[in-house]
Amino acid sequence: MQTSTCTKCHNKYSIYYRPYSGERLCSQCFQISLKERVQKTINNYHMLEHKDRIAVGISGGKDSLTLLHLLNQIEDQTHGSEIIAITVDEGIVNYRDEAILIVEKTCKNLDIELVKIKFNDLFNLTIDEFNLKNRTLSICSYCGVLRRRALNEGAKKVSADKLATGHTLDDMAQTALLNLLRGDITKMQSLYPGGIKQKGFVQRIKPICEIPEKETTFYAFLEKFDFQSYQCPYSEEAMRNDTRTWLLEMEEKRPGIMFTCFHTALKLIPNKIDKNQLICDKCGEPSSSKFCRVCQMLDDYNKINF
Ligand code: SF4
Ligand SMILES: [Zn+2]
Ligand SMILES: [Zn+2]
Repeated sequence: MQTSTCTKCHNKYSIYYRPYSGERLCSQCFQISLKERVQKTINNYHMLEHKDRIAVGISGGKDSLTLLHLLNQIEDQTHGSEIIAITVDEGIVNYRDEAILIVEKTCKNLDIELVKIKFNDLFNLTIDEFNLKNRTLSICSYCGVLRRRALNEGAKKVSADKLATGHTLDDMAQTALLNLLRGDITKMQSLYPGGIKQKGFVQRIKPICEIPEKETTFYAFLEKFDFQSYQCPYSEEAMRNDTRTWLLEMEEKRPGIMFTCFHTALKLIPNKIDKNQLICDKCGEPSSSKFCRVCQMLDDYNKINF
């Protein structure tokens, strides 16, 4: 087998090749480079301030575990912030049960407080129950909106200043493309990695948004993480899967295309970001119209299942 030397330290054998930059890295340089990239992303987008309380949304998958590990190291050495993990239980039997065990073990090892938020407690429904009844949208459409609310509730509960999520470069490029395919440029603003300050919402930040999923997987492998192996049983419903497959093929042929897609989408964010907030007439949460998206969805769902 042909081996080559790490292009960073010029000392050890390389074990990882980055087609988009031409780097060949040894395990140590690979791990350091990920930490440095996250640090750079945090600085570039002014994500954190000294002594911020950071809620980290953690699902038990390799991306959010990588985020938690990297943030924990960075924060120990720099901002002096406190990290609290938030995990959401959507009520997907077997799939989420495995993930929660992994999250509990990881947080215990890292000595990080863990807060669990259940759909059943917040909305009196689980995703498995949604699946059994009539509905007009895909399961993932319901789950995405409710999950967003649940994470925000968790972050508010622990009085967090920031809510960090494990969106990778792949997620950002997929969302950018999906917004284009759906003709919804206004949604591009959700891609801004430093988040937007809005009353009633904990500011969302995406510290690993410039790391490809392939690299979070390799990091998880090097760090020997236990991470969730099962795929969510409802994931095939998502249109996102088609976009994912297409982008991976394009990245293989033209390395760097995901990065270009994400950064082009950032340039499309409207200059005037809509920060207008009303209060939902039903639940009292912030909303852009009379009723928030969560209440609209649950009302429609209850009507067709009456
Ligand atoms: S794949 Fe869909 S249903 Fe499953 S956790 Fe993700 S958003 Fe929810
Ligand atoms: Zn090296
Ligand atoms: Zn509401």
